[in-house]
Amino acid sequence: MKLKTRAALGILLTTTFVHAAPKVDFARSQKDAGFKLNNIPPPSRNDAATGAKFTIIDGEGSKVELLNDGRVPAEADEGSMNFSFKDGNDGGRIQIDLGKAISVKAINSYSWHSGERSSQSYKIYAAKGDEKDFDPLPKRGPDPRTTGWKPIAKVSTGRGSQGGQHAASVTDPRTLSLGEFRYLLLDFDAVNPDGKQNTYLSEIDVIDAKGPAPEPFVPKILTTYQTPDKKYTFIVDSTIAPDLGKWANKELIPVVFEWYPKMVAMLPSDRYTAPETVTLEFRDDLGGTPAYAIGSKICMSVPFFNGQLEGEAKGCVIHELVHVIQNYWRASTTNPNPSPTPGWVTEGIPDYIRWFLFEPKLKGAEITTGNFEGAKYDSSYRVSANFLNWVVETHDKDFIRKLNAAAREGKYSEKVWKESTGKTAEELGKDWKDANAKRLKL
Ligand SMILES: [Zn+2]
Repeated sequence: MKLKTRAALGILLTTTFVHAAPKVDFARSQKDAGFKLNNIPPPSRNDAATGAKFTIIDGEGSKVELLNDGRVPAEADEGSMNFSFKDGNDGGRIQIDLGKAISVKAINSYSWHSGERSSQSYKIYAAKGDEKDFDPLPKRGPDPRTTGWKPIAKVSTGRGSQGGQHAASVTDPRTLSLGEFRYLLLDFDAVNPDGKQNTYLSEIDVIDAKGPAPEPFVPKILTTYQTPDKKYTFIVDSTIAPDLGKWANKELIPVVFEWYPKMVAMLPSDRYTAPETVTLEFRDDLGGTPAYAIGSKICMSVPFFNGQLEGEAKGCVIHELVHVIQNYWRASTTNPNPSPTPGWVTEGIPDYIRWFLFEPKLKGAEITTGNFEGAKYDSSYRVSANFLNWVVETHDKDFIRKLNAAAREGKYSEKVWKESTGKTAEELGKDWKDANAKRLKL
């Protein structure tokens, strides 16, 4: 009997306070304010969303895990650190599963973009999960209220072209809790109703009223290095791996200072300037990939580098720096009708420079009796590097420069090979294989 009374009282209390409308605060800064925006606390790394599961239930987007990793971008427009629904999507829906019902004190969202993608516009619904007809993953269409969801608030930080950092916080100042919920549903609008561009969201926090005090996000550790002639700048992001930051400072940067300008000089082409600022970022989310280059940024895998400091680490960066200098991505913007460059050429050139010019002593790209059988000139990476080295040594000392220039301009064709050697790549591949067979006495 006692129990029943208490339960009834609970319902009564809830209904009494449910009419108090949650308060939506927002703040904007047109500069890098470190996400310290007036009355909104900075993004947290130990809030209830950190261990929650985020699921996209409507629309297509980038990596939704970026929203609760406790990290924020170091600069505006940073695609790899911001979540965004894809262009063409009119926003989308995200479900947050907190794992169990908690007393939600606040829902905070943070975004950063130099233009209108900084603005946030979304509705929040919440549920405990035991509601009648509850649908945990409601697609757009029916009103979420019909599938057990309770509307909490509508957030808008103001549409328009005002870029910068935006933050919003939904709280209930009277009860200090928005309610007991396990699930949150965030329904985002595009930032511009016609263009269907979407917000660059940096982080979403859910603060548990009974949880630990929020600890702020880990600020980025960025170290900037400029070559003595001030021509090139390298920014090392060692936020998640301070020890690798020290290694980069001592071991990697001297190599980069020496080799980047040298490799730029090796790979010139008409009216081309190689990137003058390159970011080197240590990451822990590359899976089995040691490193990759995108634009003028290199992402390096922390576990791979930790295991290869005495081995392949530096050579791996040399390879990626060549990709930055190659810049074959630009062909589509400079050439109205670019021809594609085969992947084995794109990868063969960096490995040629790495294994035959940077660290030839390691003999990392040899053709041996062990790998001869499967080796083809277009096998890519080290094998293609060996082939390119053979072409350079037997036919044309200047061949890599010519091959790279053609590829960068979107003009790759058999002509490049014929003009330098009188033969096609395939014919050369056969000669190279024969030469190796002879050398290996096979
Ligand atoms: Zn590569």
